[in-house]
Amino acid sequence: MHVVHIATELTPIAKAGGLGDVLSGLCKELTLCGHRVEIILPKYDILASEGLKNIRLIEPHLPTLENGKHLFSRIFSADFENLKLILIEPDSPLKYFSRGKIYGECDDADRFTFFSTAAMEFLYRRKDFPDLIHLHDWPVALCALLHKEIYEPLDFPVKGLLLTLHNVEHQGRCSAETLSRLGLPGEDLLSQDELGDPLYTNTINLLKGGLHYSDLLVAVSPTYRTEIVHTEKGYGLEKTLQDTREKLYGILNGIDLSYWDPENDPALKVPFSTRQTSCATQIRAGKAINKKELQARLGLEISDTKPLFCTISRLALQKSPALIEQALLTTVENGGQFVLLGVAATAAIHKQFEALKKRFANSKEIAILLAQDETLAHLLYAASDAIVIPSLYEPCGLSQMIGMRYGSLPIVRRTGGLADSVSDYKNGFTFDPATKEGVEGAILRALSCYQDHPTKWNQLVCNAAGADFSWKTPAAQYQKLYAQLLQANI
Ligand code: ADP
Repeated sequence: MHVVHIATELTPIAKAGGLGDVLSGLCKELTLCGHRVEIILPKYDILASEGLKNIRLIEPHLPTLENGKHLFSRIFSADFENLKLILIEPDSPLKYFSRGKIYGECDDADRFTFFSTAAMEFLYRRKDFPDLIHLHDWPVALCALLHKEIYEPLDFPVKGLLLTLHNVEHQGRCSAETLSRLGLPGEDLLSQDELGDPLYTNTINLLKGGLHYSDLLVAVSPTYRTEIVHTEKGYGLEKTLQDTREKLYGILNGIDLSYWDPENDPALKVPFSTRQTSCATQIRAGKAINKKELQARLGLEISDTKPLFCTISRLALQKSPALIEQALLTTVENGGQFVLLGVAATAAIHKQFEALKKRFANSKEIAILLAQDETLAHLLYAASDAIVIPSLYEPCGLSQMIGMRYGSLPIVRRTGGLADSVSDYKNGFTFDPATKEGVEGAILRALSCYQDHPTKWNQLVCNAAGADFSWKTPAAQYQKLYAQLLQANI
């Protein structure tokens, strides 16, 4: 099967969050299963290009429309591990992908609708048509409309489009002008139910268009699927999701076990096995050396007996900055250490954690690092005893799975994919109310288990480390859906 993924992230080349991890993990597994998989990405200035091989210019002048004129792009092919990439670089003074970051620009809708049109135009002109196109989130949701309304009538014979919903809070709201500038009938599309935003008048909603025009939809966990259809976690799209629920599935993401591998991770002080055959004492011994290394590096008290808890997360409202702060305070007030690694999504959240950092500047029990640091994240997973994820909602969440793989027990709020992957007192700790008391209770239970019931703690660590969060099962589920699309279009 020939599948083209169109996406805006790929770990570790261009990563902002879990979306990048999903792209690399799923695509590697699909390639191993024998499929021909290609990934189309923007050629960002911040691409970590060290791992890229065989970079070739395959199309020097791909035309798309921008405000009535041609905008030309250079298209490159490249290899990354077992993945085939196609990179799009527009030759425009607007420098869409030379902003030093992936998201967060005021013209994100322009940047990614351009990318969507260029990706589809490239595939159309190349004529090496894939069987299926797999889209990811609002930035490329427009591709589904482009295919159905423009390219299919032009004989672009793709058998199906699948859209994975990684986070429906972000929907790509924009004006009709955003589409008109690409040569599309923006005003007409605005007046149609397929794209008109359900909450804001005179506003296009790109994700809503993706829901309508895609052949199949996948939410990144079964619980998240239910939450977005039936609760406010649909962020205004509940009705559309109810109308499209016949084609909406829920598949829990996996993690890339070769990338997240404590036995073979260059970021660790010492590698250690967390396979089920390795007993908890072995995990603990490996963890102890990495813990000592982390404590020394971050200026924390060197202690093997103090529980070390952490959070590794984008610091967005979704992740509940207030509850993360509470978790940190409860942990250190009760004899533990806490390391927070995260980048704030807003100036207000950054200020909150800068203030906390200042308050504990001399603490030997707390380290707050407001940075994106992939290498440190790996060491932190290996060094910590528990990872705290008190999210208000969490479509899937990967850090709880990565934590388990490194023998770090997840302490999570029971929502979305966290509810689907963590069971209380089996492989971690869960709580329901999104309140200070809720997170405090879970932290205290975890601390008590660590300090007073080490045998139970070790059992949980073994259960967590032994769980299979590889891409094998989710990739098989995706392949079933792919097969369904092919069969429907024979
Ligand atoms: P989301 O996609 O909502 O950000 P996930 O849990 O699905 O959340 O994925 C988060 C990914 O990003 C994990 O791989 C985690 O280790 C990583 N991550 C988050 N913040 C940082 C950071 N500041 N530095 C390094 N890695 C980070």
